Amino acid sequence: MPITMPEGGTKISIKNNKLQVPDNPILGYVQGDGIGPDIMKACLRIWDAAVKKAYNGKRKIYWAELFMGESAAKKYNGEIFPEETRQALQDLIVSIKGPLTTPVGKGFRSLNVTLRQELDLYACVRPVRYYSGVPSPLLHPENVDVVIFRENTEDVYAGIEYESGTPEMRKVEKFLKEEMGAKFFDDCGIGIKPISPFGSKRLVRKAIQYAIDNHRNSVTLVHKGNIMKYTEGAFRNWGYELAREEFADETITEKQLYSEYNGKQPEGKIVIKDRIADIMFQLMLLRPTEFDVIATTNLNGDYLSDAIAAEVGGMGIAPGANMAEHIAVFEATHGTAPKYANLDKVNPGSLLFSGVNMLEYIGWKEAADLITTKYPEVIKQKIVTYDFARQMENATEVSTSSFADALIRQIG
Ligand code: NAP
Repeated sequence: MPITMPEGGTKISIKNNKLQVPDNPILGYVQGDGIGPDIMKACLRIWDAAVKKAYNGKRKIYWAELFMGESAAKKYNGEIFPEETRQALQDLIVSIKGPLTTPVGKGFRSLNVTLRQELDLYACVRPVRYYSGVPSPLLHPENVDVVIFRENTEDVYAGIEYESGTPEMRKVEKFLKEEMGAKFFDDCGIGIKPISPFGSKRLVRKAIQYAIDNHRNSVTLVHKGNIMKYTEGAFRNWGYELAREEFADETITEKQLYSEYNGKQPEGKIVIKDRIADIMFQLMLLRPTEFDVIATTNLNGDYLSDAIAAEVGGMGIAPGANMAEHIAVFEATHGTAPKYANLDKVNPGSLLFSGVNMLEYIGWKEAADLITTKYPEVIKQKIVTYDFARQMENATEVSTSSFADALIRQIG
């Protein structure tokens, strides 16, 4: 069995619905393909340095290497998502992964989609905030500070699609046209968009709970319900319903804010509001301070998270995680950028901040804060990887590993 658990570490457990994190937790990591090994090597050093500094050696992460993608195929006879890895991600509860190549034409859609489905990681969580000095296209990128909760399991990503001209498509076409009276052109490819109360509510529940735990001001339900009433519109309605049913003491609606509170947000209450997806793209550029936690359906979330990430410097530094109730797999949000593989060149920021979120998730806030406060100091010195260097004047372009060295020096 290729996976070995590191000696001296203890697994995280769950008690009373809460994570129990020892001072010597075993966390899983998957290096990933392409640029994965370069950024993972650099980040492991930074996270370890921050933990050591923050807790004076009293706490330490014991890393267990897990295998997915190309590295797994080499060790597990061609398998790219071995059962041993699936089991370990589940047992260890908290893990982090680099990007993975999805082999084209091997019979399934995406390794990441498979991972989400296998472990029912129903929430894709993307915190987007600005770090001083990072090149951005906005005049005031510091106004962007949101956490996006994207539903991960439903919507047009459910994989219910029928190719034009196939017998399956003909059957669905016939049913829709003849039995349901639907009108559309002949020979359409057909995709189905399932959105359930269960899937919507568990996502919105997680977003509201996050807002409560992290003292956030609002949760915005983003949807396209004006057009797709029974899927996107229903997501919005179920979101409000959930807030009413389960968080009546902690939340008010935006309507109530004006009708009952004169527009002044009462202490300790989170405002639940909703916006239509298209206007949300505009608002996140023009008035980003109005938004805080965002909960949305799968496709909206996919578009919106990349667009908002671009506002604060792009995919090179946008962190992410896929989460179930407790199991969390933190991940770099960009791909494997194969042309840069093994060149020690790319920006480790996305994986780095995913790890910062992971440290926060296990309650090691001091170590997380060390990285978030020291990172801008390195950027301010204009010590950056190629992607930032090309957007800055007089920058010193460094390799992935040298960037890690600079940040570790700053951490002390
Ligand atoms: P990509 O790997 O994200 O790369 C696209 C471009 O983004 C790169 O060429 C580079 O831009 C920039 N970039 C990405 N990561 C960067 C980093 N760390 N630092 C600086 N710049 C970075 O997207 P792709 O080329 O579309 O996909 C390649 C492979 O990745 C595919 O096999 C795809 O399936 C996979 N993928 C995996 C994940 C995942 O595992 N989560 C996500 C997306 C894609 P420049 O060329 O302009 O420098």
